[in-house]
Amino acid sequence: MRTPEHPGVHVRAPGKINLALRVGAREPSGYHPLATVFQAVSLSEDVVARPAEGLSLTVEGRGCDLVPVDGTNLALRAAELLRTVTGTTAGAALQVTKHVPVAGGMAGGSADAAAALLACDQLWGTGLDRRELVELGAELGADVPFALTGLTAVGAGHGDVLTSAMSRGTYHWVLALQDEGLSTPRVFAAFDDLLDDEPPAPEVDEGLLAALLAGDPHELARHLVNDLTDAAVDLMPALDDVLAASARAGALGTVLSGSGPTVAALALDAEHAASVAEVLRRAEVAAEVLVVTAPAPGARVLEPVRAP
Ligand code: ATP
Repeated sequence: MRTPEHPGVHVRAPGKINLALRVGAREPSGYHPLATVFQAVSLSEDVVARPAEGLSLTVEGRGCDLVPVDGTNLALRAAELLRTVTGTTAGAALQVTKHVPVAGGMAGGSADAAAALLACDQLWGTGLDRRELVELGAELGADVPFALTGLTAVGAGHGDVLTSAMSRGTYHWVLALQDEGLSTPRVFAAFDDLLDDEPPAPEVDEGLLAALLAGDPHELARHLVNDLTDAAVDLMPALDDVLAASARAGALGTVLSGSGPTVAALALDAEHAASVAEVLRRAEVAAEVLVVTAPAPGARVLEPVRAP
């Protein structure tokens, strides 16, 4: 058991983009079968867990006004779940600092949950291993396991059945962020509405995995795909301009991340990414344009939090 003077545990967990997102027909359960390739990016969330009586939460940073701070918050739910399964009575004051856009299709809330699980496990000395944390994470949301494992992975099932994917080298992405988010359930409902025929069972293209293995950004660019693109554009027509401007900005390829509205444009290297970002900023189609690298590691404990 840690002493009450423990200064706290600081965990960083990555946001993700989807290099491919193939979506099948809606199941009677309401979920859609997915075949996706996740890549964790250097835009990440920070969670500090400090000893306290009971559980509490503060949220600061990008889009924090849009984040619930009640019991529906994914970081709080993660801490609560860990308490329940381990039976610990220890408490924590959680401080979430957001960098990943809220409802941006980059699974920021899932990253907060992953970070809170790991931070509380360390703080409370409950000693779960990575596999156990991943299993708990899956109970909180389909994207939580990937925020724990990071790097590059193929997601099957509802995106939660992960297999790590071999990826060589570093990829340079330009992200076009919007102020306004898109609700994932609404985008899937629009996907259903726009369908004429039953879509085939979703599969990840072998060519994309081969491109990652070879570390070939040109080849990867040719395989970027997101079946939710038309649905997201239907709900947010301005996204069409973002996608067109990203293509015109000289990127190797562009793709909508998850259910959007974040658009990721692939560049050749850091210098190319900086120039694509500059062109995109001048096009004034995004609230913010950021350059990130990938793949990034999964949730990890950073240097000890200094005592005040
Ligand atoms: P998805 O994982 O469905 O792709 P997303 O990346 O588009 O989601 P998130 O930012 O993860 O979007 O959050 C989606 C919604 O979850 C938010 O609109 C918010 O209401 C709720 N939410 C709960 N906890 C959090 C959290 N810690 N951070 C952000 N949003 C949260």
